[in-house]
Amino acid sequence: MSGETQVDWPACTVEDCRGRQVAAEGRCLAHTTKDEREAIFAQIASGAAVIAATGVRFTEELLADLLAALPSNNDGVPSLRDADFRLAVLPTLDLQAATLVNAKFDGTSFHGEAGFAEARFQGEVGFVEADFRGDAEFAGTNFQDDAWFRDANFQGDASFDGANFQGDATLGWANFQGDADFDGAIFESDAVFARASFRRTALFGGAIFQRDAEFVEATFQGDAWFREAMFHGAALFRGAILQSGAEFAEATFQGNARFIETSFQGGAVFVGATFEADARFVKASFHGDTVFRGATFQRPIELGPMAVAGTLVLDGIESDQPMQLELAAWRLSCKRTRFRAGGHLRIAWAEISLDDAEIPAPLIISLHPPAQELSNRVCWLVQPESKAEGFPAPLPSLVSVQRADIAGLVLADIDLRNCHFVGAHHLDQLQLTTADVFHRAPQLRVRPGNRGRQTLAEECRWRQTRPGSRGHRWRHTTSEEFLPSLLAGVRPPGPAELAAIYRQLRKGREDAKNEPGAADFYYGEMEMRRHAPNTPRAERLLLGLYWLTAGYALRASRALATLVLLLGSVIVLLALWGLPTSSTPAAASLSITGVPPAQRVNLPAQSTPAMPDGPMLDRLTSAGRIERAARTALGVVVFRDTGQQLTTPGRYIEMAGRLLGPVLLALTLLSIRNRVKR
Ligand SMILES: [Zn+2]
Repeated sequence: MSGETQVDWPACTVEDCRGRQVAAEGRCLAHTTKDEREAIFAQIASGAAVIAATGVRFTEELLADLLAALPSNNDGVPSLRDADFRLAVLPTLDLQAATLVNAKFDGTSFHGEAGFAEARFQGEVGFVEADFRGDAEFAGTNFQDDAWFRDANFQGDASFDGANFQGDATLGWANFQGDADFDGAIFESDAVFARASFRRTALFGGAIFQRDAEFVEATFQGDAWFREAMFHGAALFRGAILQSGAEFAEATFQGNARFIETSFQGGAVFVGATFEADARFVKASFHGDTVFRGATFQRPIELGPMAVAGTLVLDGIESDQPMQLELAAWRLSCKRTRFRAGGHLRIAWAEISLDDAEIPAPLIISLHPPAQELSNRVCWLVQPESKAEGFPAPLPSLVSVQRADIAGLVLADIDLRNCHFVGAHHLDQLQLTTADVFHRAPQLRVRPGNRGRQTLAEECRWRQTRPGSRGHRWRHTTSEEFLPSLLAGVRPPGPAELAAIYRQLRKGREDAKNEPGAADFYYGEMEMRRHAPNTPRAERLLLGLYWLTAGYALRASRALATLVLLLGSVIVLLALWGLPTSSTPAAASLSITGVPPAQRVNLPAQSTPAMPDGPMLDRLTSAGRIERAARTALGVVVFRDTGQQLTTPGRYIEMAGRLLGPVLLALTLLSIRNRVKR
């Protein structure tokens, strides 16, 4: 010890001793004679203030003598009045259940265990800058007035479990190098742990803070355990750093919860926590999964801006108040969340799951790039492999609304290429403010300006399971690394379910007067009906023809091609078998026999048009026949008139042409109209 330390008591005259002068020649208790010492102990035994200990370096023997001299009650429990141990050096101390009035241990060094379990401190007690080199035992201790532990240094474990602080508890700047155990402690007045440092586990499980709990800029290197803690006043964690896990499960925040600029470097668990007042996580950052599953918010939820390098879990939260969330994260899970009053979720990057969610009121989910400051603080959010090509990096992706009621859902700049819709309710009411958020179907021929129809991820997955080249073509539309982790183990729906999903989405697009979107979903719906095993065989055949000939009246070129094909076929068939040998009927001649006025007119029997003969090739290469065939075919298929005389097979060809021609013509016109509408 340095003799230069300034002390506010007359210090011992022995060199390097800071003990208070209590004996002749300015000597302290440690340097008294035996007689002087016994006289001092006699005074203490009679109830005098214990001032002789100030600054004294105690040996075990001297401390034992002092404790033996203390007056005690019937149970043999000692009591100390105005005990002043400031800057004293103490070996192992046992004052279990003792009563200490106005005790001062500021700057005291406890070289062994400091045993104050079940002790009662009456009046202010100071342990400011105390140095606990062994374990500090304050379990069940009762502090009836303010307790000062500012800058205290706990080198061993500090046990305050079940302690009761009736006055202010000031542990700011305290340094806990071992475990800090405040389980079940009761802080009846303010609890200040500002800038405290917890090197190992900090236990506040079930602790009760009846007024403000201040952990501003505190550092938790081990787990921070606040399970079932009760904060009646404000819980202030501004700027705190929690380097390991943070457990606030079932905690109750009756006052404002302030986690402003708090850094959670492990995960954070708020499962089942109750926030009765405002919960603020402004600029909070989380380096692991952050779980609010089943938490209760009694005020409007306003979370963020915050960043989570993991999954933010809001599963099972029920809110009658609008929810505002500003979040940059890898994943956002809102399974079974009830957004009864809607709200606005501003998201960057995250894969979002709304499985089984309930969204009856307008809930907007939109892209919101994080502020530069938060971006810089959480640069670990930006993964080098960008999430998707063709989209700006922070585009969030909705991956599931399975079984959710999404009547109020509005999506703005949200990627839906991996979204799974099966079982969703009110899909037709889904509002998309951005076009082009779905997969595009792969095309046989890549043409500029034609990107293929919008396709659901679920259809892509289903098609990938089909054998051979049909499935292979779809294989590159999604890839396994694209499969979001929130969707692990999801069974892709079959074509029948997909048709229902497409139908609802189409209805939504139609209601929104979004014709191109509706057309794509209609195509998907028809495709899925065509492939669905529960569609009747005849209907599947019809759908197949419809698809083949006209692309469900959405592919003008296909319908036109079919029409041309029909025309060509009719021409060829007519040329081969339909036209009689001669283009002009045999001139009618009649002969009159007998004498007028009674005469008989004999008309020659009308000859049936003769079937053409000769080689087939000649019939097709005869310019006259082809010209006649083309004229007749056009008359049959497109126009309604044909004066051409035909053979019997020719008339059947004509009938077939008359039947199919108008249908295909109508389909072509319809397809063109559907194209133009875009
Ligand atoms: Zn001395």
